[in-house]
Amino acid sequence: MERLVRLHDRSFRLYKSESEILTAVREVANKINAEYIGRRPLLVPVLNGAFMFASDLLKELKLDCELSFIQAASYHGTTKSTGNPIVAIGLNQSIEGRHVIIIEDIIDTGVTLSKIIPEFLAQNPASVKVASLLLKPLALKTDLKVDYVGMEIPNDFIVGYGLDYDGLGRNLRDIYQVIPE
Ligand code: 5GP
Ligand code: MG
Repeated sequence: MERLVRLHDRSFRLYKSESEILTAVREVANKINAEYIGRRPLLVPVLNGAFMFASDLLKELKLDCELSFIQAASYHGTTKSTGNPIVAIGLNQSIEGRHVIIIEDIIDTGVTLSKIIPEFLAQNPASVKVASLLLKPLALKTDLKVDYVGMEIPNDFIVGYGLDYDGLGRNLRDIYQVIPE
């Protein structure tokens, strides 16, 4: 495993190894396995970053579960007053009465999910919970409740395991932290 990687103009150092990540993924899966006995949750990963976490998480789930990916898109409306609302696109099935678990790679300010969750709640699901591999507690700006967290990390920018720096680094098995310039 390479300890330093270079992506575009920046260097990154190894921060969380694949085995540490997979341990955290298993811990999240175990909690879901215990709490959803007898139910059939619908897992909703947020693309692109969450694809790798979603894949490893599903492999550890021992219950019946379904999967539907969404993307958080910033909608560029014509009126300035609305700003750039974030909407969820791609959910192609009804979530009414379903136990939904939103799967995120990382929660930073929490703004993305705090916009998406009300859209979900408006469709009368049985429940909506959030599982994020990573959480930056010091960056959180909303009162978002994150039900399952793999690892809490400081505010530094990271890449790898699905997360990118300007399009690169998603394929790395480990997580790397940016080296300050
Ligand atoms: P939030 O809305 O919680 O501020 O941001 C969530 C999204 O920002 C994440 O899903 C991710 O796409 C991106 N993000 C936040 N922090 C990082 C980071 O350290 N590295 C990368 N690659 N993306 C991040
Ligand atoms: Mg994400």
